[in-house]
Amino acid sequence: MAPGATTRARCHNRAPVASVSVPGDAFGVARASAGRHARPQRPGPGWWREPLGVLPGVGDATRRRAAAIGLHDIGELAEHLPSRYLAYDSARAIADLADGEEATIRVELDSIAVVPTRRRRLRIVRARVHDDTGAITVVWFNQAYLAEALQPGDQMMIRGQVALKPQRQVTARAHEVLGAGASAGVHTEGLVPVYPATEDLPARKLREMVDAARPYVPAAPELLPAWIRARVSLPTRADALMAMHFPRSAREPRSARRRLAFEELLVLQLGLIAVRRHEETARRAQALTPTGEITSKVREGLPFTLTGEQERVARQVARDLARPRPMRRLLQGEVGAGKTVVAALACAQAVEAGAQAAILVPTETLAEQHLRTLDQLLAPAGIAPVLITGNVPRAERERREMAVATGTAPVVVGTQALLVGGVRFHRLGLVVVDEQHRFGVEQRQALAEQAGDGADAAHLLYMTATPIPRTLALTAYGDLRVSAIRGRPPGRQEIATQWVHEDQRDHAYEQVRSELRAGRQAYVICPLVTEGDAGTDARSAVQEAARLVDGPFRDFRVGLAHGAQKPDERRAAMAAFAAGDTDLLVATTVVEVGIDVPNATVMLIEDADRFGLAQLHQLRGRVGRGEHPGTCLVFAEPASEDGVRRLEALVQTGDGFRLADIDLDIRGEGSIMGLRQSGPTDLRFARLSRDRHSLAQARRIAKVALERDPRLEHPEHVLLGAAVRQAFPDMPRLLDA
Ligand code: ADP
Ligand code: MG
Repeated sequence: MAPGATTRARCHNRAPVASVSVPGDAFGVARASAGRHARPQRPGPGWWREPLGVLPGVGDATRRRAAAIGLHDIGELAEHLPSRYLAYDSARAIADLADGEEATIRVELDSIAVVPTRRRRLRIVRARVHDDTGAITVVWFNQAYLAEALQPGDQMMIRGQVALKPQRQVTARAHEVLGAGASAGVHTEGLVPVYPATEDLPARKLREMVDAARPYVPAAPELLPAWIRARVSLPTRADALMAMHFPRSAREPRSARRRLAFEELLVLQLGLIAVRRHEETARRAQALTPTGEITSKVREGLPFTLTGEQERVARQVARDLARPRPMRRLLQGEVGAGKTVVAALACAQAVEAGAQAAILVPTETLAEQHLRTLDQLLAPAGIAPVLITGNVPRAERERREMAVATGTAPVVVGTQALLVGGVRFHRLGLVVVDEQHRFGVEQRQALAEQAGDGADAAHLLYMTATPIPRTLALTAYGDLRVSAIRGRPPGRQEIATQWVHEDQRDHAYEQVRSELRAGRQAYVICPLVTEGDAGTDARSAVQEAARLVDGPFRDFRVGLAHGAQKPDERRAAMAAFAAGDTDLLVATTVVEVGIDVPNATVMLIEDADRFGLAQLHQLRGRVGRGEHPGTCLVFAEPASEDGVRRLEALVQTGDGFRLADIDLDIRGEGSIMGLRQSGPTDLRFARLSRDRHSLAQARRIAKVALERDPRLEHPEHVLLGAAVRQAFPDMPRLLDA
């Protein structure tokens, strides 16, 4: 195969360097073959998957420790990239050292001993060393074993802090003995890589292992064909890996990382586009042809007119449903944007085409709320949705399941119990998934298999209130078409957010009380259920409720809702608040979704720095839902600058999409919005906040590549295709379409 051949040739052309004392020796091939692990002289592509044990200096213990962090073979080691570099410079002459600087010297050891000290805990090792220009003392603290390990006559490199007064001495920070196996300077000279390490397998050992693997790195298989490399001007994979591990300048790792990130994003985009293509070309769905019979009744019954945004999205969905190919659409819109109506219209279209629709939600509370809403929306058309959750008593549940199986229940709302409980549908045509980010790509596919009536898959509409930045949408949801309802429906009130500090607490309570006196209601949100949770001093709902009802809110009716209550108790508390029987609801994030009390106008959030930005935005969306504007009072004393930036953003913008972008900038995507999911969308090299441009490029190139070679079977694409299959192990037939 061509890429292997070039790397072999290049390796061969460079003269193997036998002497380990030459810094920066290109490929220590001779060294690799000199020890007990005799190897052929020329590394080839097959070497990439050789076990780590073939490397000199890697015994059984090291192999086990490496395996514990997922490093089994040369290729995996070569892809274990440094997280940063120590910027050391090249070795200097002792005579040239200046007082106070940090420097590397290259010396011979003359003598070494442990120096007695008065302090029992302190052990100092002192050595005399020299080079051609002079001699100096070197000291190590608390590494007494060095007095035994190092021998007079050892050739060494030492990095440390130089002092010329009161006596000439170097306090060692790093050192290495030359000729002991590793290349000279690996720990002490130039840009020294720092690898993600463990206690068992320190960065120093990893550095030596990578150094031993150096001859193999140029044999890294090349995934990207020449046409792609040329188009985005990227180095070869081998060059990129060499530059990451053995950089000659600070710029090298930057372009190398860009190459590895691009490749990772490309593989992901190829897979995601292939998933979508597979759905849209290879699988059949029931075409839900709109007759208008039911949808028109639902529309006429609406207590409001749809906004332009809702109309636009509803039309997109209606068109998708009418096709004989499964719809895979993600509908984004922040809390209260009006997604449910769009879902209701889609359900109505399914029913008028003679199919069933299922609405899947993550929690029981949300299921019940959706049932009420859909019941109202669909009533004008004479459709009564049924609820199926784990809470429904057994006999009743069986009755409902029967109605689903015979098709007399056209619309079903339920939790995941609906899918795992073995509920059979008569003719399932549409699945709506609310808050879909809890499902990964593979789970999405499994959902669709419920389709009946000869179709391969049901249409799927995912709805999420968590605004997803475009970059993230392209990765985590790259297999979906994305629609967004921006802005809020008419009539929805502004929410003024204020960041309040502890010394304004009394004033904040008075603000809340004045709303309550005017007949409105309020929420107090706490991060913890009860005191002592998570061993912090953050406020807890249980204690706050007790404190408030005895103190600042003694004249009001205070309710309490949190996740540790029995479901009935929690439901009762929420119902009492919804009915206006309590004025103030002290709660945890259980109210984040699934409670709609138009009379609630104020929310006070405690320890807001303990919530994510998206979560805070979602929470405050619970107020301002009626005729009066909302107020959100946020208590927080963030400990970090990022924490301050997030709160400032929350106060300044009410646009969830803007907030999501800001969140991505501040936090990186690793933990963004609790969206962490495992599977093919995990990124190792790429950072979405930094690689937006590469992502867009990868998306474009992936489309071109799949157009030219749909199965990625041309020789130049074969390795890329293999990488895609490996990234999507649960979809083995992904590229067969
Ligand atoms: P979400 O996007 O959070 O699911 P919903 O669909 O639940 O939002 O809508 C939130 C509220 O806004 C509901 O009470 C709904 O009746 C109302 N609503 C939806 N669309 C409109 C509209 N076009 N005009 C006025 N009110 C609307
Ligand atoms: Mg909703």
